[in-house]
Amino acid sequence: MKAEIIAVGTELLMGQIDNTDASYISKRFPECGVYVYYHTVVGDNSSRLRDCINIAMSRVDVLVLTGGLGPTQDDLTKETVAQVLGLKLVLHQDILDEIKSYFEKTRHNRKNLVMTSNNEKQAYYPEGSVILPNRNGTAAGCIITYSLNGLDKTIILLPGPPWEMEPMFDEYVIEYFQKKNTEGLKSVYLRMFGIGESAMETLISDIVTSQTNPTIAPYAKKGEVMLRVTARYDKKADDADIILKPVLDKLYERLGEYIYADSDIELKDVTADMLISRNITVAFAESCTGGMMSQMITDISGISKIFLGSVVAYSNSIKESLLKVNHSTLDKYGAVSEKTAIEMANGVRLLFNTEVGISITGIAGPTGATLDKPVGRVFIGISTKQNTSSYEYTFTGNREKIRYYSCIHAMNILRQYALMKG
Ligand code: ATP
Ligand code: MG
Repeated sequence: MKAEIIAVGTELLMGQIDNTDASYISKRFPECGVYVYYHTVVGDNSSRLRDCINIAMSRVDVLVLTGGLGPTQDDLTKETVAQVLGLKLVLHQDILDEIKSYFEKTRHNRKNLVMTSNNEKQAYYPEGSVILPNRNGTAAGCIITYSLNGLDKTIILLPGPPWEMEPMFDEYVIEYFQKKNTEGLKSVYLRMFGIGESAMETLISDIVTSQTNPTIAPYAKKGEVMLRVTARYDKKADDADIILKPVLDKLYERLGEYIYADSDIELKDVTADMLISRNITVAFAESCTGGMMSQMITDISGISKIFLGSVVAYSNSIKESLLKVNHSTLDKYGAVSEKTAIEMANGVRLLFNTEVGISITGIAGPTGATLDKPVGRVFIGISTKQNTSSYEYTFTGNREKIRYYSCIHAMNILRQYALMKG
């Protein structure tokens, strides 16, 4: 089934808010055999909306409209849809009762929330609609089925606010199409670190081109690459995992050393999980990243079990006094050097008495380059009781990118250490 999403709202057109409703729906629809072919955005204007509906009805089977179900004058989706389809708007007494009770319940929370006659407009729906209750607001959604030139069309109206739209979509719309369609899609995401997009594509190009089901699509994310492997299957007859397996096996054979996850999870989460489950305590000494690495790891709840703390050692004097970096090291090799990275990592490990110390020192730019050290030169040190080493990188890009890349590479060094520990 082909679908189009029409997001209604002038604020979307003006760029004041992003059309997250459309991306949410597009991501989830294939699970139930509906494929989104078009995204349309239109302002709160009845005649332009009417044109959009007519165009969409001529080219897709399923039309989803988001927004404009509210009580105000500029909320005109229902009225316009009814007009285009030639349907009357009829009162749903149960919805009206629910709206009344919603106002009763919330009045004590929000003093100014009083029901006006405008709200009654929200209890009117095109005749024949299947009503989709709204547990998080007052605007119910609806599904209308309609026949155009002998072809079945499904028109779905959903509220604009994502916290109302998303649960309604999950609860009713997905189920509606799951019952109707037996075809589904299942995707696995292979996430990789340490290989570029083009190198990855070259390694697997023969697999990609010979593949029709499942399909393989590469994505590049900041500093990482990802492959989406998607199987199309008949829910009554097939097992999606059986269709996926041979292709996943081939991909693992070629790319296994770079793959860190096969689900929607980030490098920092994988690293943190491994550190926590193996009880590896860590501390960071951050220079050019100024605490970014610590922020990244403290995004993860439960990390206090293994992350003890950091020193943001931006100045040489702090590197010396807190991290015990030798004055002569800084003098001879400079703050951005292999030797300094090693001493910083050692210093922070001893200071916090952790299993691992990680250090990051580099030139984030745009100023600060020297003859032998360009902007983007970064050293990452790792220190344990047994071993200390330092890795040298030259990242390109602006200050933010260089700092971010430094952190994710440090995260990967930690992950590899945890992997080695088994
Ligand atoms: P309400 O009852 O709140 O008026 P509504 O169904 O009439 O809901 P709109 O008035 O069109 O929806 O939008 C209300 C708010 O919902 C917007 O200000 C915006 O914050 C959010 N919203 C609307 N459409 C979208 C969209 N496509 N993507 C993300 N957010 C949206
Ligand atoms: Mg509104």
